[in-house]
Amino acid sequence: MQAPNELFARLAEGTRDFLAQARHRMLIGQDWTEAAEGGWLEVVNPADESIIARVPAGGAADVDRAVRAARAAFDDGRWSRLRPSERQRLLLRLADLIERDAQVLAEIESIDNGKAAQIARVVDVGVTVEFFRYMAGWATKIEGSTNEVSVPFMPRESEFFACTKKEPVGVVAAVVPWNFPLLVAAWKLGPALAAGCTVVLKPAEQTPLSALYLGRLIEEAGFPPGVVNIVTGDGPSAGAPLVAHPGIDKVSFTGSTEVGKLIGKVAMDNMTRVTLELGGKSPMIVLDDADPTLAAAGAAQAIFFNHGQVCCAGSRLYVHKKHFDRVVADLAVHADALRIGHGLDPETQLGPLVSREQAERVCGYIDIGRQEGARVAAGGGRADRPGYFVRPTVFTSETDALRIVQEEIFGPVVVAMPYDDIDEVARRANDTPYGLGASIWSNDLSRVHRLIPRLKAGTVWVNCHNVLDAAMPFGGYKLSGFGRDMGRQSLESYLETKSVIMAL
Ligand code: NAP
Ligand code: MG
Repeated sequence: MQAPNELFARLAEGTRDFLAQARHRMLIGQDWTEAAEGGWLEVVNPADESIIARVPAGGAADVDRAVRAARAAFDDGRWSRLRPSERQRLLLRLADLIERDAQVLAEIESIDNGKAAQIARVVDVGVTVEFFRYMAGWATKIEGSTNEVSVPFMPRESEFFACTKKEPVGVVAAVVPWNFPLLVAAWKLGPALAAGCTVVLKPAEQTPLSALYLGRLIEEAGFPPGVVNIVTGDGPSAGAPLVAHPGIDKVSFTGSTEVGKLIGKVAMDNMTRVTLELGGKSPMIVLDDADPTLAAAGAAQAIFFNHGQVCCAGSRLYVHKKHFDRVVADLAVHADALRIGHGLDPETQLGPLVSREQAERVCGYIDIGRQEGARVAAGGGRADRPGYFVRPTVFTSETDALRIVQEEIFGPVVVAMPYDDIDEVARRANDTPYGLGASIWSNDLSRVHRLIPRLKAGTVWVNCHNVLDAAMPFGGYKLSGFGRDMGRQSLESYLETKSVIMAL
């Protein structure tokens, strides 16, 4: 293990320059600005609890300025009526700049969120680059249709030309969480910008730094001012006035189901379009023909990736009783073997959770699990070191009727449960209010295909878990959300359809 000061000494020059700014400013129109009311939020490094920076505590006045900047940029057509090929070119240029600064962004993400920089470089930053490239391509492929119409109440000799046109929905409020700060911001910005929308982005208060760095790259790429605005601040002071602002045409939110419901209600008051990507309690189902060794390795990845702070984490593990003891034993070995450490340490596989509050919440659930009678097979609480580290934890239980089985924990905690037959497991897999992801582990094609339609989940993986792709829509059934991020479906949600009917 290396001391934090040694790790900081090896940061990329760009990261050091960025962090040398003790107070960051937010981007409104073409100005990098402080909050109108002058307040600041502390940004904490979860690996050692030190304050790494301060960002403006944005409020209603800042939100209003940002929405007006985005509105002006939308209404005057500097972005919405730019040639599609120009929008594509700028998005590709942004992707190139993110790729150029991949190490800096990965280090910023690591220091701010806690995750391992090496993983952040490949996943958070690498996937962001590819995602912007994928969405850049859509800018030049937006199309409506020509329609043959009948208009039965008009005289037979009348003729019509009818078509649909796609138009950008307008000004978008993008509100994002702290688990993948850069990547989830990209999930919103990519399709919005490809469609011709302008955006006000509000990053989570715990992890605002990569969004601010991205703002610099957006400027450098040459996007017109006002097309992307970034307001830092907390949910009640900045997020709430943003989503309720009458100048917003669409809200795209990723976060908790609780806040998502609030935002959905507020959006309905203004008829604001809304996409909600919310929580999950995703099952992983191991059939009796599966290889228990592969299933255990898969389960470890499904729950411990990003310290379990993944909305589609495989947090309920259903294993056929024939393999149960073996899979649990192997999974416990994987859990105990994960190297916990500072995100900047190249040896680290598991960093700290994002905040003290989150670590306490997760440990609270671990205590609840014990009280409810679940058995601890690995981990079981805080790691013995400063920072918000929680040990990867494996519970076993015979029953689903536990809070740790029903409620989203959003940490490195999995509950493994045995089952007897496939009807039983299909029913139990669906038995939570959520429906984001699910995975099936089996090579029996017939049974796999029969099980896929029975699972109420926005994504079903087979022999993998947490595999996402820019081309594949991602979102939830039931309380896991409304609408989809990624893929063509996401682009469509940033477009209005206009029907044009001409009497000839
Ligand atoms: P959260 O508390 O819902 O916060 C998400 C964002 O909403 C943050 O930027 C937050 O601001 C803001 N916010 C809070 N209250 C608000 C309000 N009243 N009006 C407008 N904005 C408000 O969620 P979180 O704790 O950051 O993230 C964890 C949750 O996100 C988990 O439930 C997880 O499952 C879910 N998630 C879902 C997906 C998905 O794609 N389905 C992906 C990742 C995470 P501040 O944090 O700055 O206060
Ligand atoms: Mg932080």
